[in-house]
Amino acid sequence: MSRLSDIGEDALVERLVRLVPVGDAAEGPGDDCAVVDEGGERLELLKTDGMVEGVHFLKGADAKAVGWKAVARVVSDFAAMGGVAERFLVTVALPGTMEVAWIEGFYEGMGVCLERYGAKLAGGETCRVPDGSAAVISIAATGSVGRGKVVLRSGGKVGDALWVTGRLGGSLAGKHLSFFPRVEEAAWLVEHFRPTAMMDLSDGLAKDLPRLAKASGCGFRLDGGSVPLTEGCTLEQALCDGEDFELLFAAPADGAPKEWTERFPGLELTRIAELVPAGQGEVLEGGWDHFA
Ligand SMILES: [Mg+2]
Repeated sequence: MSRLSDIGEDALVERLVRLVPVGDAAEGPGDDCAVVDEGGERLELLKTDGMVEGVHFLKGADAKAVGWKAVARVVSDFAAMGGVAERFLVTVALPGTMEVAWIEGFYEGMGVCLERYGAKLAGGETCRVPDGSAAVISIAATGSVGRGKVVLRSGGKVGDALWVTGRLGGSLAGKHLSFFPRVEEAAWLVEHFRPTAMMDLSDGLAKDLPRLAKASGCGFRLDGGSVPLTEGCTLEQALCDGEDFELLFAAPADGAPKEWTERFPGLELTRIAELVPAGQGEVLEGGWDHFA
């Protein structure tokens, strides 16, 4: 009998979505957010995300920082579509032994992040897990993106260059709790650099780069020497640590726009790979898998 840890996260999701009716390529599972076209000027975006004590944050972690992270992770996914998050629904499943001050601190941290990115709490649910069990936080959010501005993972073309913002690796040292989702950066890129495909890096480049290439029906060739490393990190860490929450995107293979450095001084934009025909290029292993 196979177990979740035998098949891993991506294979599990593939199996599960076969069991229910799903939307088409844009509406269905497999991108940072689902896209719903109701015919208006803006497309609706939908997202859900989970965080578990002991997996995404440690018991005793700073409550406000964990609250910031819970919202920032979701905002980052909206940014990766070229859009913005608007309304949040938050479900918390907590043990009765939890200190009230901790969960209040968590909501304060969420509030700071919601405010910073112009989103609001729309509702939620609180329930109990057995004492001794980990706290579980589930966040659903809606948002929107202008028609014609939406960027899927699936739009990359053979010959496109792949770029990343910022530096990768070593997120556990602190950045994973305090990062700023790349909302303004993504909107600027959509306007000035016309990405053909985009996602945020949550599970490490080794996991996420193949996902973007596969969604675009391509292979990829990575130039390992060009991957921008967080100071003190190895290439292995940059590929596998995860939770960088930087943008990975494909764009026709021109140089980086000069205006980028003027608009976002200090934030690197680095060309690290290119899309090649499916079946060519290379295979990357590693990165964060929730079950493996
Ligand atoms: Mg994502």
